[in-house]
Amino acid sequence: MYTIMNSTYQQLCRNLKVLKLPQMQMHLSEVADFVSVNQLSFSEGLLKLTNFEADYKAESAARSMIKAGAFPHHKELKDFDFSFQPGINQQEISEYHTLRFLEEQENLVFLGPSGVGKTHLATSIGMTAAKKRISTYFIKCNDLLQQLKKAQLENRINDRLKHFCKYRLLIIDELGYLPINREDSNLFFQLIDKRYEKKSTILTTNINFSDWDSIFNDAVVANAILDRILHHAHVITISGRSYRLKDHIRTEN
Ligand code: ADP
Ligand code: MG
Repeated sequence: MYTIMNSTYQQLCRNLKVLKLPQMQMHLSEVADFVSVNQLSFSEGLLKLTNFEADYKAESAARSMIKAGAFPHHKELKDFDFSFQPGINQQEISEYHTLRFLEEQENLVFLGPSGVGKTHLATSIGMTAAKKRISTYFIKCNDLLQQLKKAQLENRINDRLKHFCKYRLLIIDELGYLPINREDSNLFFQLIDKRYEKKSTILTTNINFSDWDSIFNDAVVANAILDRILHHAHVITISGRSYRLKDHIRTEN
């Protein structure tokens, strides 16, 4: 069906191209037909056409935020089987996905042994934030420390700390899997201190808070870190079975 005069259509197409609105260009004739068949007003038609461009731009912005987030995988809340881990309060986890904790500059700490879903849940919250175009970055604790240490050696530690402080949500995964020496503990403290009450951090760890002295090799620094992390924080303790081992357990039984 031809609802726009051929030359008008061509000029419109050219304008949309010049204005770099490819989605509107692509959907122009389809929307023109829809408007004519359904006898829509000019504004309704224009709204429908501009929605194509606006939705596409929002989706590609979300895609690039997810890419910039450096997540280890793209697992989301819907991929998490709560029936496997009945100790977790599903409603509480859903509440974190509203991202209200970010507005309050609160932290989340996922605490529990290996394989219980700490990284999965932390990633799923990060993905939700990135989709809403909130600057989010995922990093393993050890990689973070390596980067800070390198920056310290190269006399650019302040820039590096500033860099990690600009994220509205920083996810630090696997705190305590490897021991941290005193110098690195100090760098870690500086980062946590800079983000304290300004930006939210999600931490995953397998080490109980009472044992953090031994991770950081310094009781004073460990306490200073803990104080700042836990002052405004929600701790999600997971004590269930490892999902990684679930099939082994089934075959062994
Ligand atoms: P952790 O960080 O606690 O060691 P992960 O989050 O890495 O554990 O989980 C290990 C693997 O098992 C991941 O592939 C994760 O997606 C999966 N997994 C863990 N718990 C669940 C669950 N309850 N439902 C679905 N997948 C899960
Ligand atoms: Mg993990």
